[in-house]
Amino acid sequence: MTVEELKKTACDAIDAHREDIIALGERIAAEPELGFKEVRTAAKIQAVLDSLNLPHEDQVAITGIVAPLKGRRSKLNVAILGELDAVVVPGHPKADPVTGAAHCCGHHAQSAAVAGVAYALATTDLMRHLDGDITLMFVPAEEGVELEYRRGLIDAGKLSMLGGKPEFIVRGVFDDVDMMLMQHTDCTENGDRACKATGGGTRGALGVIAKTVRYIGKEAHGARPYEGINALNAAELGLMGIHAQRETFRDEDNIRIHPIITKGGDLVNVVPADVRIETYVRGSSNEAIADASEKVNRALRAGAMAVGARCEITEMPICMSLVESEELKDVAYDNLRYVFGEERCARNGEGVCSETSDVSNLMPTIQMMIGGASGKLHGDDFRIADPDLAYIGAAKALVCTAIDLLANGAEKGQNVKDRFHAPLTREAYLRDWCKLPERV
Ligand SMILES: [Zn+2]
Ligand SMILES: [Zn+2]
Repeated sequence: MTVEELKKTACDAIDAHREDIIALGERIAAEPELGFKEVRTAAKIQAVLDSLNLPHEDQVAITGIVAPLKGRRSKLNVAILGELDAVVVPGHPKADPVTGAAHCCGHHAQSAAVAGVAYALATTDLMRHLDGDITLMFVPAEEGVELEYRRGLIDAGKLSMLGGKPEFIVRGVFDDVDMMLMQHTDCTENGDRACKATGGGTRGALGVIAKTVRYIGKEAHGARPYEGINALNAAELGLMGIHAQRETFRDEDNIRIHPIITKGGDLVNVVPADVRIETYVRGSSNEAIADASEKVNRALRAGAMAVGARCEITEMPICMSLVESEELKDVAYDNLRYVFGEERCARNGEGVCSETSDVSNLMPTIQMMIGGASGKLHGDDFRIADPDLAYIGAAKALVCTAIDLLANGAEKGQNVKDRFHAPLTREAYLRDWCKLPERV
């Protein structure tokens, strides 16, 4: 079969299972679960894979699922990812009444689309025409939330990272993967937006280091402050010190630092001795984040030094900044146009902050943005308004891109792999990034 025939076969199979794919997405949306707790979500997907007789490994990083499919040759292995977790938006009409969890980031549509790829590959003989393997992955915990809970899982030895994809990297799930494909649902159905799908981009896909900061002073009577050490004064000086760094940040690095005081003292007539701050340091390159992060630490410590307090800073890795493979983006863009038509697509668009970017530092990675939702991401008005875009079109874009990469001796995939120069090795990632969380 020609590549065109392979793609048509895949798209026809997805159309034939349109109702199944949409129904799976809606079943997931009806029972939203937060990261590393997606037990019922995983069970729904496992049931679909079982119905297709697709072997899969379950409970990977607690709730993840990995389903490998072999091609006629195994020149390359392309991973296609979906995410399992919801966010907390209690005001959403489909929010869980107990946890407030709701699928306001569209991960239910994303997982259903990857299940759509499973329908395409398991109900046809497509894999027998491809010169590489495809591994479907349903990954837990994309959203960087409930950090206390996840720190508890780390302390209990059940995890070593705070997010699903970093945990997959640490566990070696990506070790035999050559490149990764994803798409994220986008809110294109507000008004008359012509562009429905893009290849994503670095804009909006900033890397993040989170910090928790504790200033330790000395209690004393509010009327005798000379007997104490005021930790709130130390914290205020620390925050002013951070603001004094801002003119040193380059525009192109998009550094964003937005601290909050989570505890300002205990009682008004006692000199504050325990003051806490949380902040993110975001930026569009890993080097710029590291530079800004060190300046923030210096400023925070200076506040403590000024008044004789102590300052404890704990850093946690949330996600790295996105690295793009132009060659992979070209292939994905070709297939977005194939599925949606030239006038509805753009090669470049806005990205999202995600630990998908961690993977992008190790191998060619794309996160396309595909429409079909209305409202706002993480908003109480988020909903799938056009299921044929968000579920069906997304599934087709993913599978057609994979076919393009792996047909004809996996020539295009090999070109993508050869032209990509990964900023990090897995070893460097584990050594430099995963050493966090740590006290600095
Ligand atoms: Zn999100
Ligand atoms: Zn998301």
